[in-house]
Amino acid sequence: MPVALITHPDCFDHDPGPYHPESPARLRAVLAALELPEFQPLLREAAPEAPESALRGVHSDEYVDAMLALKPEPDERIHLDADTIASAGTLRAALRSAGGAMRGVDAVLEGWARCAFVATRPPGHHAEPARAMGFCLFGNAAIAANHARSHGLRRIAVVDFDVHHGNGTQAMFENDPDLFYASSHQFPCYPGTGRPDERGIAGNVVNAPLDPESGSAEFRAAWQTILIPALDAFAPELLIISAGFDAHKADPLAQIHVETDDFAWLTAALMDVADRHCGGRVVSLLEGGYDLDALAASAAAHVRTLMRI
Ligand SMILES: [Zn+2]
Repeated sequence: MPVALITHPDCFDHDPGPYHPESPARLRAVLAALELPEFQPLLREAAPEAPESALRGVHSDEYVDAMLALKPEPDERIHLDADTIASAGTLRAALRSAGGAMRGVDAVLEGWARCAFVATRPPGHHAEPARAMGFCLFGNAAIAANHARSHGLRRIAVVDFDVHHGNGTQAMFENDPDLFYASSHQFPCYPGTGRPDERGIAGNVVNAPLDPESGSAEFRAAWQTILIPALDAFAPELLIISAGFDAHKADPLAQIHVETDDFAWLTAALMDVADRHCGGRVVSLLEGGYDLDALAASAAAHVRTLMRI
């Protein structure tokens, strides 16, 4: 069964400004890497816009109303927080990001793909129930998890290897024992959450902070000894990955020194978890990654592993 690649050109039109690290060039770099012949078998699908009801499932009505009313002029930029900036194309891109995550869930649960990689932007894991934050507008991973419930699933896990803690996903999951969130992240670092004692309800949140300057050994050990055992114990029916590649040693936004191969290693380990509990079903969502070459190579390594090539 194929692996789906879900994206949309509208995601290039979210333009937070010429000096912003979360640039359209990121998505261009990822998609260019996935044009190589070895990725020909990917099943390419357009990301639809998420329906309003899906946004309201994880965000407050006031927040959704405010985002849907966002209408910057063609050259205007509106600051939603210190580093989350909306341009004229932002709302549509954010709706495609959330809708792409939902389409990825459809792909694996309707059975026309074994795994899905959703290459969209803006990312989602910092968006909180009632505010935009950290380059993120809508909680794509949480929206995908909620959507999986509409397919009849109950126990859903999000694992997050972005170098920043996914405070938004954690906030949306921490009081629901049927949802599970596990993250490795640099600590201290933005956004400041993700301590080991943030355990959710019934231990359904597991955080493995990494000291600045940690490398491959510490990154792999966190997953091998803490996060994957906890994920196995939870035994999800669907695995959603918040795939940020900014723990790479070349990334300018953090000080973790992971190699491209480490992302392939972790992807394979997470697929083994999915084989044990989820019938191999994995939906992976692009989060961060700000060195264009490292991002492209790491995303390609991740997708190659999802395709088992
Ligand atoms: Zn990040």
